[in-house]
Amino acid sequence: MRTAVVTGANKGIGFQIAKQLLPSVSLLILACRDRSRGEAAAKLLGSSKCVVEELDLANEKSIDAFAERMHEKYDHLEVLVNNAAIAFPGRDPTPFEQQTGPTLKINYFGTVRLTEKLMPLLTKADDAQLVFLASMAGSLSQLSDKRQKQFSDPTLSKQKLTELVKEFETDVAEGRHKDRGWSNSNYGFSKLSIIAYTKILARDAPKSLAVNCCCPGYCDTDMTSHKGTRDPADGAKNAVMLAQPNCPHRGVFIKNEQVSEW
Ligand code: NAP
Repeated sequence: MRTAVVTGANKGIGFQIAKQLLPSVSLLILACRDRSRGEAAAKLLGSSKCVVEELDLANEKSIDAFAERMHEKYDHLEVLVNNAAIAFPGRDPTPFEQQTGPTLKINYFGTVRLTEKLMPLLTKADDAQLVFLASMAGSLSQLSDKRQKQFSDPTLSKQKLTELVKEFETDVAEGRHKDRGWSNSNYGFSKLSIIAYTKILARDAPKSLAVNCCCPGYCDTDMTSHKGTRDPADGAKNAVMLAQPNCPHRGVFIKNEQVSEW
């Protein structure tokens, strides 16, 4: 009996991940911020294994309520795919500093909160996989050398990582992030932080839990305003391979279904 949660499963890459995971699980929870969009996706998947649960990563109460329901209903979870995220389109007129908070709220803080709340269920499973959808936009090279060392420090703690993320937010708000070695991409920085978080979790996880992250490639979805060249069904394969039983990887970043440099 394998139970899986996929966030943002109602469309795009998340929908394709859900579809491709179905054969290897006995229950698939589509965690979606809008129930009707989730129900429509479940209908398209057409399997009695699908269950829709509401989850808004921008809302701490929603995250906590979702996690409580998971703890009430299930003894353990075999798979969590943290797929849901946002990216402001390049043409969006919202100033850079006003995009920082909403981007980090969902892509980093909400994702981390959800993961921490579900971790006890993942560590109870005999063979579990935790997968983050990161991005090649999360490359370390967007930071100064000093910042790169901070983020790739093998002794980095979760607390220190969150302090660094908050420092970026403050420096953006005060208009000095470029001078202080930070990225000039809110989305890229959110994904870089998720890769750092993946590596910390992988380092500290029990052997029974494989924690990894991946880039799906530049996919044809709403996020890319359909400019992406890769079919989201292809992009989804990176996450799906990491979510299979007995995953051999720990703390890696997968791109084009291969282990890749950060
Ligand atoms: P997408 O088509 O925009 O879909 C994003 C999904 O996340 C939707 O289901 C969306 O729900 C959900 N979501 C957004 N905000 C949420 C919130 N606050 N709470 C819960 N769910 C929320 O994006 P995608 O292209 O499939 O991307 C999927 C993942 O791959 C993301 O992590 C993205 O960063 C990553 N990625 C994508 C590409 C690419 O080329 N597409 C490249 C690299 C990495 P709604 O339908 O309700 O909005």
